[in-house]
Amino acid sequence: MKKKVLISGCLLGEYCRYDGATKEDKTVIEAFKDYEIISFCPEAPVLGTPRERISVLFKDKEYKVVTDETNKDVTALIKEQVDLQVKHHPDLEMIVLKSKSPSCGLGTTPILNEDRRVLMYDDGIAASYLKEKYPKINIVDEHNVNEST
Ligand code: SF4
Repeated sequence: MKKKVLISGCLLGEYCRYDGATKEDKTVIEAFKDYEIISFCPEAPVLGTPRERISVLFKDKEYKVVTDETNKDVTALIKEQVDLQVKHHPDLEMIVLKSKSPSCGLGTTPILNEDRRVLMYDDGIAASYLKEKYPKINIVDEHNVNEST
């Protein structure tokens, strides 16, 4: 049986970014050619594509993902998508996420204050929740794949 890897859908060539674009990464795809690849995008299924941009805000001592124009808190929706993955794929070998995304970034996501100024860089909402749900699994972004496979 093949090992399973969960990968951000936009790295796999899916047109699931907020602007309808992709971020296909052939190095990632090649690195996992012998794995069973599970495509993961926590935003597209619940917010559609294209969609309004979202950002991570540090508010009331918590991180929340909020839409940029309509100011809607979509944190719970993004986390629900992670819960679905945990339910369907508890047996992952590894997770590869797209850097800088408000959902998928690993230590590279801008965290904004309520005036939308950058306070710091940290994990996106889906990334931090994936870490919590898969505490024993190696989670990297597209820039650290070769060191990890
Ligand atoms: S970075 Fe994550 S949320 Fe954004 S398009 Fe890629 S898979 Fe979807």
